[in-house]
Amino acid sequence: MPASAPRRARALPLAALVLLLATACSAHGPVPDTDPTAAPPLPSPEDEGDAPAGGGDGQGVPADSGPLPEGPLSGRVVVIDPGHNGGNAEAASRIGEPVPAGPREKSCDTVGAETADGYAEHEFNWELALLVRERLEADGVTVVLTRDDNESVGPCIDERAEMGNEVEADAALSIHADGGPESGRGFHVIAPGEVPGFTDDIVAPSLDLAEDLRRAYLEGSGMPYADYLADEGLDERTDLGGLNMSDVPKVFLEAGNMRNPEDAALLSDAAWRERAADSIAHGLALYLMRG
Ligand SMILES: [Zn+2]
Repeated sequence: MPASAPRRARALPLAALVLLLATACSAHGPVPDTDPTAAPPLPSPEDEGDAPAGGGDGQGVPADSGPLPEGPLSGRVVVIDPGHNGGNAEAASRIGEPVPAGPREKSCDTVGAETADGYAEHEFNWELALLVRERLEADGVTVVLTRDDNESVGPCIDERAEMGNEVEADAALSIHADGGPESGRGFHVIAPGEVPGFTDDIVAPSLDLAEDLRRAYLEGSGMPYADYLADEGLDERTDLGGLNMSDVPKVFLEAGNMRNPEDAALLSDAAWRERAADSIAHGLALYLMRG
């Protein structure tokens, strides 16, 4: 996959969109209908919670070089974690090594899902992460990616979480796409459940983050709520190392189900990914503007 995503012209500054979104829907109201012109019909599918990932050397990747533009979110720090990596499939022993993941250890990482046509989840995650980074940076956010290409191995799930801790990120988002049942559609956001000694400090703010992201993604991407798991697009898990090892508010987005033909068509579409990235950036901005 390309290491650089095409830059796109922004139709509206993110801040303006955030304000529109915030105005359109009260903070905790029900999720509004998806714009029919912007998205395909919405059924609801979802994705399973992902798997830990990682394996490699994980130096956080600084945002693009050069000064960030001043924006409404200047000074805020967000970690974007594109799940898995392109080299994982060829490094089974390495990504299978147990790493800290909470009360129990888990594998360093996994290979990830793919569509019937062979579009790999690690590639999707990487491409979408770059688009989200571009949007956040335009509003002044300092963005750290947990991997710097799509050809390496890892980093391991605990290292990915540690990157957010090290920079004391205001929010961290792990981007994935599920490998669920072929008949199931949709997305879900995974928030950390209570794991004493691990997630106590992040459960509440992470739920806020999950709700902001869920609403914005539903509205903006047109991907429906998962219909094969979770509850209206929201799940809570205590077994994900990427969440358990985080000390900063963090959620996973399972952006759609790669095994479902309708979802796969969207996930594989570059134009749709632009819209999805817009909505994810909006969701993160809504959360950051909470305080
Ligand atoms: Zn995944």
